[in-house]
This record gives sequence, C-alpha cells and structure tokens, in this order.
Amino acid sequence: MSTLEKMQVLADSAQYDLCDYVSHSKSSQVNLPGIYHATGHNGCKIPLFKTLLTNKCKNDCKYCINQSKRNFTRLELSPEELSKAFLHYYNNGYVNGLFLSSGIGDTIDNTMEKTIETARILRKDYGYDDYIHLKIIPGASKDSIKRAMSLANRVSLNIEAATKDGLSEITTTKDYNKDILKRLDWMNQISKKNPGFAKSGHTTQLIVGSNDETDLEILKRMDSLYKKVDLRRSYFSAFSPVEGTEFEKKESCNTNRTAQLYHADALLSDYEFDIKEMVFDENDKLFLNEDPKILAAREMNIFPVEINYAPYKQLIRVPGIGPKSAKRIINIRRKKPFKKLEELQRIGVVVKRAESYIKLNGNYQSALDIY
Ligand code: SF4
Repeated sequence: MSTLEKMQVLADSAQYDLCDYVSHSKSSQVNLPGIYHATGHNGCKIPLFKTLLTNKCKNDCKYCINQSKRNFTRLELSPEELSKAFLHYYNNGYVNGLFLSSGIGDTIDNTMEKTIETARILRKDYGYDDYIHLKIIPGASKDSIKRAMSLANRVSLNIEAATKDGLSEITTTKDYNKDILKRLDWMNQISKKNPGFAKSGHTTQLIVGSNDETDLEILKRMDSLYKKVDLRRSYFSAFSPVEGTEFEKKESCNTNRTAQLYHADALLSDYEFDIKEMVFDENDKLFLNEDPKILAAREMNIFPVEINYAPYKQLIRVPGIGPKSAKRIINIRRKKPFKKLEELQRIGVVVKRAESYIKLNGNYQSALDIY
C-alpha cells in the first residue's frame, strides 16, 4: 500500500482528535488526506497535517474507531514515511504544521519512540522549525514525555473522562490516576523545569456524552487541571456512535452541550470564575439554550457595577465585557473616566449585553437609550 493510501486511512482515523494552533497563518484550499483546519487564536482557520502514526491499538475504548476489538485493516506509517509526506505538504504550502497522534502499536514505549523519532527527523535532519503538536500516550514514560516536549510546540494527553468511574465506563485498559493524571502532572513539572519545552503548553480532550458524567463533574475536573497542572486549554468532543464499536447503539451527544461546555470552560480558564458561581439544572447539567455567563450574572449581587471604579474581577463578570475589554477599561479610566456607552463600544464592549449590568458615573445604563 502506498504512503498516500495509508495516509488516507490514518488521517480519517485521527478525525476525533481536536486541536487549535498558535502561530502565523497561511491558507490552503487543497483537498488532500490529512489536512485539518484548526482554529487559530484570532478565529482564522489554519491548515495542519493531522494523522495517526498507526491505527493499531491495545486499548479498548468502547466508542473508538481504532479500539482493539474492532476487526479492520491495521496500518502504520514509519517515522521516515511520515516526515517525508508531511514535508511534501509543508513545502508546497498546503499546511502550516503537524499534529501527530497515534493508537498504541506494539507497546506504549515503542509508539512513543516512533512519535519522537518523527519529530526528531523533522527538526534535526530537515531543519524544520515550525509548529509540531504531539499527542502523549496515556502511560508513557517520563523520559519519553520529556523528549517529546523538547521537540514539540505543544503536547496533549486525552483524559477522555472527568472521573475515574467515568473512565471505567469507557475502557478497561487505562488507569485514570496513574496513566492519565500522573502523566499530566509530569508534563507540568517538565515544562516548569524546562521553559523552552512545548512552549505553547499542554492541552487535553474529553469525549462528552460517552458516559453518565454531568457537566458539573466535567467542569470541576477542568477547573482542577487548570489550577494543578497549568493546562493551557481543553477540548470537548461530542460523542457520536461508530458502527462496530460497543457504543454503536448509544445516543449521540447534542453538540449544543459541547458548545455550552466551551462557554463555561472559558469562564473558568479566562474569566477566573469560581465553579460555585455557575448555574446548573437539577441534574448538574448546563442549560442548553442559555448563556452560562448571563445565568451566573443573574445570581450575583454585584450589579450594576460602576465602570469607572469597579475592580477587574467585577468588570469581567459583566456580560458583554471580556478580559481584553476589562483591561482596556482599567487602562483608559486611569487617564480619563468614561462618560458615554459609545466609548465602551469603541473598545470592544458588547454594550447591548452589558448595559443592564453597569453604571457610568452613577447612572444606571439600562435606562439610557443610545440607539
Ligand atoms: S487509546 Fe482508546 S481512544 Fe486512543 S486510539 Fe486507542 S482505543 Fe482509541
């Protein structure tokens, strides 16, 4: 089988791994296997070459297309094949970086070695110095994680579930504390000791709706990972049944649920919210059609906040004000107090959302008509 044919299969098998990208962008409209459009920080789409090294896997994750019990053709790319194929894409301007994931071939150690070797060939043999995101395999050794981090811009390790019990609903072959949480802790320790390693940080991914975990459990786990292992960000993949897996008859997860989890997760990671400020229904789920920030604001007794005096912590709790606009408000009001809503609008505040929650020089703004 040719490298291109293998890539077609392995790139399709990697479709459930999510990532973003943190560098400059070029665009590509080329339709070749393995081109994945990640979302950059400014919202633009960035083409990455995303593939599995192999779709062989020793693990039995019950939702996964590659799980050990499924019967299908197993393929593997060698580090040499993969690096050459990637460079062909990169040098032709089809992609801006590599996102390399893998099932577990023969052993965890050997698969990690092949992942590292691919990155090593690119960096050392070909002098490639652009973006590489490497997936760390649960159970990987500390030494292999360190070497992967020395070569990558970003690394990630999928937690898959928010709790030990939740993971045991999905798989019998991974130990939540040992194979996953301990490894995330090592990633954090390595990055603290080696500031140049995986400079774009470490991330994780969770499959939502593949088990009975609630949104509260998911967000509590993320909150703890942001605080304990300095997680850069989390991805929520909505469970969707795959034919031939043990979960093939299980109901798909509503993608509104993952959208709400992203909103709520941003409140924890970027807005410094406490999980206790968030509002859940009687089943500890987020409300599917209500903005988590507005729901939280309705329960707070800090409003209306005075734009010209309120501390940062209160400003970012206002719907329509994000971390950037809150910082701008603080910088500007030092020199000159705000007098009109239009001035807020000009610096990025979504005034329509914010006006019922703010005061300007003592005037309650929902009473003012600026339109
Ligand atoms: S570890 Fe689990 S999710 Fe990852 S490839 Fe193997 S079976 Fe699939």
